[in-house]
Amino acid sequence: MADDTMADTDLQRFDVVIQGGGIVGLAMAARLGEIEARSPIDGHPGLTIAVIDADQAPEALSEDTLALRTTSLNAGAINLLERNGVLAHLPEWFLTTFDRLEVGDRTRPVALSFDASDIQLPRFGVFVENDRLRYALWQLLKQRERVSLLAESRVRTREVLPDRQRLILDNGDIIEGALLIGADGARSMVRRDAGIDARSRDYAQNAQVINVRLAEHRDIHTTWQVFAPEGPLALLPLHDRQASLIWYDRPGTVQSRMAMDDEMLKATIRQHFPPRLPEIETIIERGQFPIARQHAQRYIAPRLALIGDAAHVIHPMAGQGVNLGLADVEILGDQLDRALRYGRDLGDQRALKHYQRHQWPRNAAMLTAVDQLYDIFRSPMADLFGRGLGGANHITPVKRLMMKMAVGPT
Ligand SMILES: Cc1cc2nc3c(=O)[nH]c(=O)nc-3n(C[C@H](O)[C@H](O)[C@H](O)COP(=O)(O)OP(=O)(O)OC[C@H]3O[C@@H](n4cnc5c(N)ncnc54)[C@H](O)[C@@H]3O)c2cc1C
Repeated sequence: MADDTMADTDLQRFDVVIQGGGIVGLAMAARLGEIEARSPIDGHPGLTIAVIDADQAPEALSEDTLALRTTSLNAGAINLLERNGVLAHLPEWFLTTFDRLEVGDRTRPVALSFDASDIQLPRFGVFVENDRLRYALWQLLKQRERVSLLAESRVRTREVLPDRQRLILDNGDIIEGALLIGADGARSMVRRDAGIDARSRDYAQNAQVINVRLAEHRDIHTTWQVFAPEGPLALLPLHDRQASLIWYDRPGTVQSRMAMDDEMLKATIRQHFPPRLPEIETIIERGQFPIARQHAQRYIAPRLALIGDAAHVIHPMAGQGVNLGLADVEILGDQLDRALRYGRDLGDQRALKHYQRHQWPRNAAMLTAVDQLYDIFRSPMADLFGRGLGGANHITPVKRLMMKMAVGPT
């Protein structure tokens, strides 16, 4: 059984070391851990994997707790989690299906609508609390004998040897792996340390997340976004009459709303959100996150690959960050699986190059598309129709793009 703490030995060797145990890093470990379980490779006992994370091991959330951060998972992401056994650790109750997206502005809240049935799908995806998903991943990995979860651990130095990467942790322990996967988020130390530059755009915006309990829950399977010049406002429906309101705005304005008491915040929401928002019974919690775009110029280096936010950070208005990260997991996992089948070393540059060739342009295209949507939607809604968005019931190229985002690679 894998342990949450460091073993006593100074030096531990693994096939793969993943630095960063957020959703994407843990999903990578789950995917690699499945290689042997799902399709045994002759004579290969399965990969040994270490996940090093600076944070504490995630804790179980009680049923009535609502975690601050929520993520939408598209069909591609749900498939990956299902296949790798993660959803078995996440009760269905916590996955809120959405099958309709509505987009508009304050005066025309449903200027555009998108139904999953338009593209013959039962749903676009689900909303899930990040912490609940991360806990489910952790529980799954704890059961895997060949996976070691090293919580509250930081890397002090890294050295690339001809046949492996060597990491020295703050506590002096040495961790080695044939391949290092950097999944350590937007401020990736792995990326910086490998000398990989990243291009970025600062939107000068913060996302304020306000979790609420609504007096009633109409349209539980509909998510909507209304655009305002300062940034969009969105509602993500969740279980048990709860919802996450996402309000993008200038950092100073968000800061002042963070300081409001609950009654004043409710009144301010009422003023700015469209009347379709049901009455708010309770403000559960609020938080804020700076918004930026960032793309690493390459994803690989000798015996090293970047995935998730370490490789790309996208404006969250289209709910794509985790989805893109899980697509990285899918493709890198397939490449490493294939390398093993051909008897190649896990640090094999062919596999890594293939991963980069596949994912970099796809992620770049999605980053650009979301950037364009961001710019388009900052114009007054009336202009949008002149730019080819079409009426609410017509499938235009932009609508197709938005639906592709919801569905992801299938
Ligand atoms: C407001 C908001 C809403 C969003 N909504 C959505 C959505 O609806 N759908 C969606 O798909 N995405 C969404 N995103 C984006 C999504 O949250 C991120 O893309 C995703 O969390 C990235 O996951 P990650 O595992 O790559 O990185 P992170 O979640 O940043 O995890 C990185 C991990 O690495 C660890 N770490 C960092 N540095 C080190 C180090 N030096 N050593 C060891 N460990 C380290 C950290 O402790 C952390 O656990 C949203 C983002 C925001 C801000």
